[in-house]
Amino acid sequence: MASISIRNLVKRYGHYTVIADLNLEIADHEFVVFVGPSGCGKSTLLRIIAGLEPITAGDILIGDKRVNGVPAARRDIAMVFQDYALYPHMRVYDNMSFALELRGIPKAEIDARVKKAAALLHIEPYLDRKPKELSGGQRQRVAMGRAIVRDPKVFLFDEPLSNLDAKLRGQVRAEIKALSQELKTTMVFVTHDQVEAMTMADRIVVLQSGNVQQYDTPEAVYERPANQFVAGFIGSPTMNFFAVELRGDAVVFSHDGAAAPVNAVGHARLRAAGKAVLGVRPEHFAVITDSSDGVTVTVKLVEPLGSDTLVHFDLAGTSAIARVDPALRPKVGDRLKLDPQPGKTHLFDCSNGEVLR
Ligand code: ADP
Ligand code: MG
Repeated sequence: MASISIRNLVKRYGHYTVIADLNLEIADHEFVVFVGPSGCGKSTLLRIIAGLEPITAGDILIGDKRVNGVPAARRDIAMVFQDYALYPHMRVYDNMSFALELRGIPKAEIDARVKKAAALLHIEPYLDRKPKELSGGQRQRVAMGRAIVRDPKVFLFDEPLSNLDAKLRGQVRAEIKALSQELKTTMVFVTHDQVEAMTMADRIVVLQSGNVQQYDTPEAVYERPANQFVAGFIGSPTMNFFAVELRGDAVVFSHDGAAAPVNAVGHARLRAAGKAVLGVRPEHFAVITDSSDGVTVTVKLVEPLGSDTLVHFDLAGTSAIARVDPALRPKVGDRLKLDPQPGKTHLFDCSNGEVLR
């Protein structure tokens, strides 16, 4: 049983508070991704779970056991780092077997475990090579292999893909996800890359300044962001934000007194606040071709992606992006009539960014 509970965690470096009061429950066998901008405390939190970093206050439980004072070596956790941290003078085989030999595990069992992990990770042909004779992706697999042979209760990954090129990153990403389904071990994976978070996680923890902004499935975080920070962080290109207000019974973009209506947003959600921040993802603009209302924008820049096309434009004093059908063949200077799709818009409180439901 390897659930992880973090209760009322506080972490300070001197007077600097990285984590003020954090609570998190990770279920047994769950694949959880910590995502957030650089410096938000992801590595600190992971190192705390690993036992590599003392805590200022609170409790860490692995399974049912409180591990606050338990050293890293006795937590039954394996950690894979960004820089792999392989022993350069050792063959791949020895890199993987080393920790098991230190533990005095019989040679035959070590051999079986190394070969099993090597097969799982498709690195059998490289067992006799030194790390410098491997590509980045192969080294990354060796680092994972070294973790797997230890048969830990929990795997921790700190941005393990950031040194790989884009293609390999996608491939190893899929391999780690497949591996997690095979091994059925609790996994915590840290990244600043929201695509990695979305594609791999059972649940995502969105962190900002040491605070959990949202903890939910990838679908929920994308479809129902709890606040403007999460809405802007998850999704690419990022969600567009516009100031809107209620005028009579109509919702309009509030800029320069130009009262362009936002047809897809009902006034009911805005009644109490009067004004708000409207969030629309690029993929949730409808291009209107009949005479119905919408806002007319001028295409400023076109980015064809093949599968769809990104159109940049200015609206209500903000620069924004819509994802449109490439068959439209938009050109710079074209006029497009756009309206957010009903049911796909988000409204956020102007003062604290919390979602208005
Ligand atoms: P992330 O992994 O999300 O990029 P970190 O957990 O590495 O962020 O760091 C969180 C914050 O704590 C940063 O502001 C960083 O400068 C600070 N920090 C990390 N380690 C130390 C340390 N040993 N001493 C002082 N401050 C630290
Ligand atoms: Mg980090």
